[in-house]
Amino acid sequence: MFLLNARVVAGARMDAQVYAAMEARCLIAPVVEEAAGLQGGEAADMEEMGFQAAKGPSMPYTPSEKERAEHALTHMPYRSWCDQCVKGRARDDPHRRRSGEPLGLSVVRVDFFFMKTSAQGDETVPCVAACDVETGYGVVSVVTKKGPQDKRAVRVILQLLEELGCSSGVILQSDAEAAATELVRAVASSRPGKTIVRQCPVASHGSNGTVERFIQSVQGLARTLRAGFAQQTEMELPATAPLSTWLIRHAAWVVTRYQKHADGRTSYQRVHNVPYSSVICEFGEHVMARKPGDVRQKFQENWFDGIWLGRSSGSDEHYIGTRDGLKRARTIKRHDPCSRWNAALLRIAVGSVLHRHVWIK
Ligand SMILES: [Zn+2]
Repeated sequence: MFLLNARVVAGARMDAQVYAAMEARCLIAPVVEEAAGLQGGEAADMEEMGFQAAKGPSMPYTPSEKERAEHALTHMPYRSWCDQCVKGRARDDPHRRRSGEPLGLSVVRVDFFFMKTSAQGDETVPCVAACDVETGYGVVSVVTKKGPQDKRAVRVILQLLEELGCSSGVILQSDAEAAATELVRAVASSRPGKTIVRQCPVASHGSNGTVERFIQSVQGLARTLRAGFAQQTEMELPATAPLSTWLIRHAAWVVTRYQKHADGRTSYQRVHNVPYSSVICEFGEHVMARKPGDVRQKFQENWFDGIWLGRSSGSDEHYIGTRDGLKRARTIKRHDPCSRWNAALLRIAVGSVLHRHVWIK
């Protein structure tokens, strides 16, 4: 049965006319679907005429354009009809179990992993992941080097602890590798609250499972978002591209907010008790953003052009890549589907403006 989802799951307001056209197409879909199976009356007619009504295998599900557009925002949940989902994580079907055991202090696990593409000349990019073992709430950041040398690694974990409300204390867990233990110690020494540092072997299961699955989900979704970006822009992002730094960060942001656990709740919901509800766009989409500050200067335009790179996990502002570098905005407008991708602007954003080493939170 085809369900028309009246609620716009996410995404800023679309042009009303475009939307109406999309909805009209959605309404036709059930008619087409029903036509694929033979109705009782038709089957009886065919038997009267001497034919045995044939039964085909069930038709593959064909999503409407509206459904596709909504799905492309997060690629959550995994959909077998979406090429990018299949490319990125066909084997990935994460079902997380909640540990259930009450803990006095949050346990946050810190790990390094790598991203690389087969693109010629591409290099392996180290990433740091930190994840709350109980809720699965986590962050990922591309770093220049494994260990505490890249200050982003420390900052991103401190930011996560703040979001988790670990002011009273936290258990920071890592494997026994020097890069990870040094990073965990660097985090412990740069925060005022109580921090217990703990080491756990890589291969042991249990609490590490949540983090392993978090990293797998992020890697899978990053591949999916990269494939989606390539399909829209015909640009293949190498792992070393500044834009990939944003994409990988955004993948972790999406997993934390939209991937449901076995209890039907997302990691975000487990931490904040409410589902994440702000609007989002597709990664790399061309948007209009409102200038922050005084909007009463009526004689001057208050909106600027840019590339949507995600939302801040701290302030929930939009990150916009522009000709003049990275900007933040509270309000954005989506373009209609025909002008949603701007290759010229993307090239500027990819090439020069957004440095890989910019601090992102
Ligand atoms: Zn998808």
